[in-house]
Formats: sequence, structure tokens, C-alpha cells
Amino acid sequence: MKILVLNCGSSSVKYQLFDMTDESVLAKGIVERVGMTDAILTHRPTGKEKYCHVEPILEHTSAIKVVTNILVHPEHGVIQDVKEIDAVGHRVVHGGEKFSQSTLITQEVKNVLTEYIELAPLHNPPNLKGIAAAESVLPDVPQVGVFDTAFHSTIPRYAYLYALPYTLYQRYRIRRYGFHGTSHKFVARRVAQLMQKEFSALKIITCHLGNGASITAVDRGKSVETSMGFTPLEGLIMGTRAGDIDPAIIPYVMAKEELSLGEVDAMLNKHSGILGVSGIGSDMRDIEKAAEEGHERAQLALEMYRYRIRKYIGAYIAAMNGVDAIVFTAGIGENDPVSRAIIGKQLSFFGVEIDEERNNCRGVEREITTPTSKVKLWVIPTNEELMIARDTMEILMAKE
Ligand code: ADP
Repeated sequence: MKILVLNCGSSSVKYQLFDMTDESVLAKGIVERVGMTDAILTHRPTGKEKYCHVEPILEHTSAIKVVTNILVHPEHGVIQDVKEIDAVGHRVVHGGEKFSQSTLITQEVKNVLTEYIELAPLHNPPNLKGIAAAESVLPDVPQVGVFDTAFHSTIPRYAYLYALPYTLYQRYRIRRYGFHGTSHKFVARRVAQLMQKEFSALKIITCHLGNGASITAVDRGKSVETSMGFTPLEGLIMGTRAGDIDPAIIPYVMAKEELSLGEVDAMLNKHSGILGVSGIGSDMRDIEKAAEEGHERAQLALEMYRYRIRKYIGAYIAAMNGVDAIVFTAGIGENDPVSRAIIGKQLSFFGVEIDEERNNCRGVEREITTPTSKVKLWVIPTNEELMIARDTMEILMAKE
């Protein structure tokens, strides 16, 4: 069975084609600058040369046509015919309260996702465009939606509600949804497998630390708490997002600086976090380099960033009344041994013993604690695309 996984953003389409007989990647790539006359396709077929091409690609349907064309290309392709594609799995950011699991896309599903545009104005519209485009390019192929929010649908009500007037939840469904669910689910399942324990027997904390960052408590196979909330702004300090702040700061700053709603939204999402504190940028590599060279605010940004993660880990240990494993994933989680070591060392009260040598790794799957460490810390590269392909296959099998 061959499954095409699509992640459609406003100006990009990322793709991976899987052969699910052995979960191997046949090809992957990205179309960037969709909507422009100089859009770029970067195609990486497994076992063949990388191929790049620039051409005008003005909307998502053309972008997906470019993808299917390159997949069957005599020289750069990996399949003979698009008919070999059995299903398409789409990453969809917001599944609201309706979708607690991945689902086959029907007109009804699309209608609900259209309603959810209000909840995810930046993400759901391009996701929906991608679905419509894939349907028109591959008309008889089943399309499956895999939602970033779905894994968090098991969070109990006392944890997902905000202590606002209850009518706001009733009227507008204002609550914690959580994001990065596909990644948290992938690494949580994987750590159980690597520890040779039942997923349903473990208490796991998963730290997805990329440009966007979130942390999840997975209690015996279920997400019971996560740091992102109604939007992906809450929780950890991120590249350009503030994470948790006192909400009273917002009207205060708006009055003082004479900011509009749009401006204050941009401040919190685009000019805060690591960038806002350091004044340098949002890329962790630049911040670490500057900190090493003695840049004080870069050092402060790093201290704040790591402290926030540690504080959340402590809170989630309390939320689950214990923890067996803590997983680090995504760009920073996978590639930054210094942050992992600093966070790990300050968790010694809970029985965490970092193994410095084992921790000195990047992008590999590895336990990074000593054999005597009561709580196990792991680095596990995330693979959201594979998780989407697996869910898509499962839905296809159930359908048949
Ligand atoms: P996205 O949320 O965009 O998918 P990623 O998961 O790719 O983000 O993570 C991007 C972050 O990972 C950036 O801040 C980048 O600096 C960081 N990163 C990547 N490699 C390293 C590294 N070797 N050391 C420290 N940070 C790294």
C-alpha cells in the first residue's frame, strides 16, 4: 500500500510518499513559494539524485499536480502511475471538539473544518485548500484527515477548561485544545516500545521543542494535559511566541503603547519568546553561539527557556502523580544536548540521572540517563509524517 502524506501551508506543500509494506519513504519534498511565479520544487527521491525546479505555481491544485507529476517522472519519479497511490493523508491543524481521531474526509467533515477556520485562521484554510486540491488531482483516492488536536481529546474537562465565565465555553468553545498531537503521540508510543513496556502502563512526559514548542503528559496511553491551549500561543517560551504571561499585561501594554488588537497579537506571536528576550533572533543555534560569546540577553533567554520547560515537567509529574519517562523531540529537543543536560540535572529530586556521554548526541534515538536513573530520559526524533501514514492506512483498512 502506498500513501501520500501532505502538509499544506499557506505558501508551501510538503509531501512524503510511503510504501507501507515496510514503512519506507519512496520520496519526499516540498513546493515552496506557492502563489508566486518563481515557486520552487525540491524533490528527494530515495536512492536517486535530489531534483530542484523553479516554475510559476499559483495555487495549491497546481502545486499538487507538480508533486504527482514528479512522483511518476521517468527519471526523477518513484512510481509508474498515480494509480499506485492508495490514499492521501492530510495534516490538519485544528479538529476542534468533533474529531477525536483521524477520519476519512467527506463533505460533512469539510463543512465542520470550514466552521473551525475561526479557531485556526492561519492553518485550517490552507489545509482545506490542500484537501480540495488533492481531491481534484486524485479524484478516486480516499483522503484522510489527521488532526494536531486529536491526541489531546482525552484531556479531562477540569484540565481543558479555563476559569472564565462558563458561557464563553458554551458560546464559543473556548477551552484548551492543544497542538502537536501527532508528534506527542508518535514519540510517546515509540518510547514505550523502546522501553519494552505497555503504552497503557507508563506515565510519560513528551517535550516537543521546535520553533513552536509544547509539552504533554501522557498517562497510560492518553494525553491528560498539554501546554498549548486555545491557540498555539500558550505554555512554553518559543522562538517568537511568549508562551504563558499574565493576561492583564495585554490591556496594560495596549493602553501604554497605543497598540491595536492586531498589533498586540503580532507582539505576542511574532516578536516575543527567544527573539523578544534576546533581541537577536529565534534560532536556538544563534542564541547559543551568542550566549557562549558572552551576550547577556542571549544567556537570559536560554535560562528562561530551560526554566519554563523544567517548571512544566514538575507540574506534569504532579498532574500524573509520577513519571516513568521524559522524551525530548523536534529541532531543539533532538539536537541540543546542552539544554537537555541543564534541564535533566535540575530534575535530580525526581530521581533523574543524566548520562553526559550518552546525552552527547544529535538527532538519534537514544536513552540519555544512567542505568540507575529512576526516571528515564530519551531523545526520540519525531516522525509526524509516518504517524499520518499509519493512521491513514488504519482508516483505509477499516473501510475495506
Ligand atoms: P518547526 O517547529 O519549524 O518544525 P524544528 O522542529 O525544525 O521547528 O526546530 C527548529 C529549532 O531547532 C530551531 O530553533 C533551531 O535552531 C533548532 N535546532 C536545530 N538544530 C539545532 C542544533 N544543532 N542545536 C540547537 N538547536 C538546533
